[in-house]
Amino acid sequence: MEKIDKIYFDIDGVLKGTASPQEDIISLLRYCLDNYTGSLYWLTTHCKGNENHTNFALSDTFPKELVDELYQSFLPTNWEVLKTDGIDLDSDFVWFDDNLFESEKMVLESHYVLDGFFRMNPKDPEMAKKALLFLKSFDK
Ligand SMILES: [Mg+2]
Repeated sequence: MEKIDKIYFDIDGVLKGTASPQEDIISLLRYCLDNYTGSLYWLTTHCKGNENHTNFALSDTFPKELVDELYQSFLPTNWEVLKTDGIDLDSDFVWFDDNLFESEKMVLESHYVLDGFFRMNPKDPEMAKKALLFLKSFDK
């Protein structure tokens, strides 16, 4: 993967409920908002089917202005059982998530895009920093 066309974000264990300092998570989100406008997608149980409750899910963790900006900027995905159903597997994507089911891993492998999955360890306080460094390693 030499470029990133789409970025998918889980919420629980990635943006909240993690050991990463909030300022690092905000820096990660700020970088995405500033550099990947129109390419940001939710991939979380807080946004599936036709329901998007991400603003509610984030409201207890982040400032209201940021929550509003995220809600307006991030695009919803539609999936039911496997999150991979919500991913454009033909694109160069990064998927930030703290969990990957075996069935989802098989889908990624069958499309030769397992390298698009970026595992976010909620217990690693450096995790948001590492994710930001990863994104910055791509030319933009
Ligand atoms: Mg999660």
